[in-house]
Amino acid sequence: LVSRENHPERSTVRVGGVPIGPGTLTLIAGPCAVETPEQTLEAALMARAAGAGLLRGGAYKPRTSPYAFQGLGEAGLRILADVRAETGLPIVTEVVDAHDVELVASYADMLQVGTRNAQNFGLLQAVGAAGRPVMLKRGMSATIEEWLMAAEYIAQRGNLDIVLCERGIRTFETATRNTLDVSAVPVAQRLSHLPVIVDPSHSGGRRDLVMPLSRAAIAAGADGVIIDVHPHPERALCDGPQALVREDLEELSTVIDTFAPLM
Ligand code: PEP
Repeated sequence: LVSRENHPERSTVRVGGVPIGPGTLTLIAGPCAVETPEQTLEAALMARAAGAGLLRGGAYKPRTSPYAFQGLGEAGLRILADVRAETGLPIVTEVVDAHDVELVASYADMLQVGTRNAQNFGLLQAVGAAGRPVMLKRGMSATIEEWLMAAEYIAQRGNLDIVLCERGIRTFETATRNTLDVSAVPVAQRLSHLPVIVDPSHSGGRRDLVMPLSRAAIAAGADGVIIDVHPHPERALCDGPQALVREDLEELSTVIDTFAPLM
């Protein structure tokens, strides 16, 4: 269902009216985690000022450590909905448990499946049946074939509104958090008709790498990028070191404005 063999035209997925697909360079931006109403609104305004069409923000956070901030849950979803009402930005947010899919889908414009759940087949089937577009991160140790098969689980439930997101893979390299597999962009686009975006924030795990990796993603033909921004990353409860700050926004919006018309 997701293969290009039977569907030669590349697909466009619309999220709250915002297109992601060929001919677009969609910016999705926002905080890694929803922390407070003020922080989320500030981050959303930063995202919108940089040219974002969609707001990202996690209310359910799949953290490596059980002692790390796990997200605000439904209270975080309510904050996102309020910020959407205030800014007009449709929401992309992660769901980590099949039992929460209906609840998260009642708030979200797009459901995100993260790298740790990329082969949680019960969750993939549940989001496939939820009636919302889905952003599927690549599993950190998944081959492109495994990633596309994960997408197939969603598609099999009748949902072809799937956006693939390359977010870096595990390699022997420790200088970066993950290794951005830039080649995954054209390879996945050749094998599948689904849009492919890149997450340079979770790939590098470092603010100074976000713009170079974004440029690399765009040069490789990504249909969009999803970027963490935070008004006060030094106080962030999740992934502060990779969040762009206000001073970075000019460069981000210049890159988006320069390359979007060329896609
Ligand atoms: C995220 O985008 O918030 C996230 C946790 O990403 P990943 O699943 O790629 O680690």
